[in-house]
Amino acid sequence: MNKLPAPDHIRAIAPYIAGKPISELAREYGLQEHTIVKLASNENPLGMSPKAREAMLEAASDLGRYPDSNGFALKAALAEKFSVPADWVTLGNGSNDILELAARAFLAPGKQAIYAQHSFAVYPLATQGAGAQGIVVPARNFGHDLPAMLQAVTPNTNLVFIANPNNPTGTFAPAEEVERFLMQLPPRVVVVLDEAYNEYLAPELRFDSTEWVRRFPNLIVSRTFSKAYGLAGLRVGYALAQPEVTDLMNRVRQPFNVNTLAQAAALAALDDVEFLRQTYTLNRDGMAAMVHAFEQLGLEYVPSFGNFVLVKVGATDDAGAKVYRALLKRGVIVRPVANYGLPQWLRISIGLPEENAVFLAALPVALAEAQKDAS
Ligand SMILES: *Cc1c(COP(=O)(O)O)cnc(C)c1O
Repeated sequence: MNKLPAPDHIRAIAPYIAGKPISELAREYGLQEHTIVKLASNENPLGMSPKAREAMLEAASDLGRYPDSNGFALKAALAEKFSVPADWVTLGNGSNDILELAARAFLAPGKQAIYAQHSFAVYPLATQGAGAQGIVVPARNFGHDLPAMLQAVTPNTNLVFIANPNNPTGTFAPAEEVERFLMQLPPRVVVVLDEAYNEYLAPELRFDSTEWVRRFPNLIVSRTFSKAYGLAGLRVGYALAQPEVTDLMNRVRQPFNVNTLAQAAALAALDDVEFLRQTYTLNRDGMAAMVHAFEQLGLEYVPSFGNFVLVKVGATDDAGAKVYRALLKRGVIVRPVANYGLPQWLRISIGLPEENAVFLAALPVALAEAQKDAS
């Protein structure tokens, strides 16, 4: 045992825990897949845009060839959308890949990355994978304490990860706060502003983070096609940054990191404004129904700016796990967040109205069952 030559920083990594797949729950509990509701991975309940599906099927005829390593067409479309040159765009195998590229380009043993408590699990993974040290800054009201994160910077800090909105808590740092942070941060420290849920923001909360990319040469804005664009299974994300940063990330990128189907689908999805609008409205209305039900049940929740919401399901540290299991028995998959330091909470993705209703009908029963177990 332990004879393999893996370095200690690799052995120290706690593997990512994904949402339980529908097929797995069906196998374990002998349930029919179509009766299972999964609200566990912040996926788009509408699936992908029909335009993306069509483009993907067309691209399927060309799969004997390698993908375009430089993602020419998709990069050109993104460059046009954000009014930046194409060499400011980096494509990733999901935006997870972007986070890894940033870590590999800017971190090394002896260096540090800063991120918030209760923030995205991939930040510590990418940091540890690069052999660097993670500095976790305590959350304020479940969100980023940006002034404290600024204070945490040392001469060894090379990277800061900020998720806005944050996952799993759903909190949002307003534009003024983020801008002040960027202005005060030493320019030699690189920031990844992870905007995986940007498309779910209400219009009045949106700000032009790409304008910051023009102003701050140390900023990487990361976005994804996995959430609002509904392409989680295809794995496409992208980063906007100035060419000096892009060039470095490109050096550690796998040459064919974004596959042919993903490139084609993302390009088509980008154009489907109607699908995005539908997605936004469905989420806004589903979120309203969800938090209304929490209020009726007297459950505490964290107001969310994403397509998911954190709800407190008990006062003991086994509450999250118990209610999670009670929901599984009833064919509902949500996300336990004990690994995020939130053992009394569950994260619920907003689904279709009928999926939300199945969850909300099962929730009081699951809460009662978890209570009974406790006594
Ligand atoms: C879902 C998510 C991502 C990335 O997902 P990909 O599918 O890899 O694009 C990135 N950051 C946050 C905060 C997320 O919640």
